[in-house]
Amino acid sequence: MSLVEKATKIAEEFEYSPEQVRKGVKEFLRLMNDGLQNDGRDMTMIPTYVTGVPNGTEKGVYLAVDLGGTNFRVCSVVLNGDTTFTLTQSKVAIPKDLMVSDPPSLFSFLAKQVADFVQEHHSDHFSEDPEHHLHLGFTFSFPVDQKAINKGYLIRWTKGFDIPDAIGKDVCALLQKEIDALGLPVKVAALVNDTVGTLMARSYTSPGKTGTLLGAIFGTGTNGAYVEKLDRITKMTSSSATDVGEYDTSTGEMVVNTEWGSFDNDMNVLPDSPYDRMLDQNSVNPGIQMFEKRVSGMFLGEILRNAILSMKKDAELFATSTIAEDSTLNTPWSIDTSLLSYIEADSTKDFSVTKEQLQKDLGISASTISNDEAQAVKILVHAIGKRSARLSAVPIAAIVIATGKLSPPAQVPIDGLNLKDLSLPIDIGVDGSVVEFYPGFEKFFREALRDVPEVGEKGEKRIRIGVAKDGSGVGAALIALIAKMQY
Ligand code: ADP
Repeated sequence: MSLVEKATKIAEEFEYSPEQVRKGVKEFLRLMNDGLQNDGRDMTMIPTYVTGVPNGTEKGVYLAVDLGGTNFRVCSVVLNGDTTFTLTQSKVAIPKDLMVSDPPSLFSFLAKQVADFVQEHHSDHFSEDPEHHLHLGFTFSFPVDQKAINKGYLIRWTKGFDIPDAIGKDVCALLQKEIDALGLPVKVAALVNDTVGTLMARSYTSPGKTGTLLGAIFGTGTNGAYVEKLDRITKMTSSSATDVGEYDTSTGEMVVNTEWGSFDNDMNVLPDSPYDRMLDQNSVNPGIQMFEKRVSGMFLGEILRNAILSMKKDAELFATSTIAEDSTLNTPWSIDTSLLSYIEADSTKDFSVTKEQLQKDLGISASTISNDEAQAVKILVHAIGKRSARLSAVPIAAIVIATGKLSPPAQVPIDGLNLKDLSLPIDIGVDGSVVEFYPGFEKFFREALRDVPEVGEKGEKRIRIGVAKDGSGVGAALIALIAKMQY
């Protein structure tokens, strides 16, 4: 069997058929409903206490901070009330010793950054009058048990942080205490998940003031948050629900953070290949985040590495090239997903882009790569990327169906425009390098949406997708605004 034939055979193992898409959507709907009733093992469906989305007319100055990993970002957002905003930002690396210290040491450092920022950019807000205080949205990308829009108890640290005394504490209160100690005119108004920030940012900037249904991230990881009817979130609204915080019931809605990276950890419907199984076995969390492991940037490079290594062993791929022991190809988790984007985009007849990229990223000399070898890799890349995009349609289709957005079709004119003959768009905000940069991601994803009979061509056309820029900044600011209106 030629190299190209062998690669085509492997590619078939990554095919995700229309029938599988339909099964995926059905299972997603089942797990969504489970998660709205009880905290399940798979998708947790976390109520966020955010009870509405902006429509672009919001105004004011808000602060946002983001603690998610190596850096701490502080920004202020001026919302102009006409779907536009301006954002001023500062960023500082978190000293390593503070990541493993005690709560006052870390949080006083964060408060000091807020103080410096407010001094520099918003000194006009220093006033005794609480009316003039700045409201702040706190994006905190660690697992928390959220009990109100501005209250969340830390469950555990991840990403190199280890401050045992903070576990079980309300992180908003920890930050507020240190802000107060500095006498700053700042109120920590909201605790924000980055996916919810994406939803909010898109809803503010989306055209037509229609409001956004769903915010979705396809970057290092994948997750989504959407607007759900309160009476469907029975784990928080039923008479037997316990341990529920306070929230505004007037909108009848709440944003739910699905945690869909863990969709189908039981592997009832997700596609599986030897290359996926290898990845899972070598991961730090086997059996967990099984959807994410087939979709997001952190994993696509490793799936490709497994498939290339298998072809190298069984089909003499790169047999005439010299590959160092410590090359990227031989180092687990070291292929960046951007490599797949570059290779997918290669439209040259002699695969010159693919060869150059394999030299640059994997250290395989381009002159030793044959056209067949480059084509074989390109076939693998295409199969892995296309499967990721088609899988991404599953949660989107399920959420559009579950929220009743497709039936009955809306026939309402928006914003004075004559749209009598059109149906309202179903707006979706996305963020992340995979959806932004992988060539054809949206095209493959839309093809899979059309494979779902309840969505079909008509429904797919109504789905409008836009990139939400600066989601963690402007999104957090918007949640601070919504929180301010509630309290
Ligand atoms: P994050 O999700 O961490 O906020 P990004 O949205 O930039 O940040 O996602 C980073 C992930 O995207 C990494 O896993 C990286 O491998 C992948 N990535 C970076 N550039 C590209 C690209 N051009 N095409 C596809 N994936 C990319």
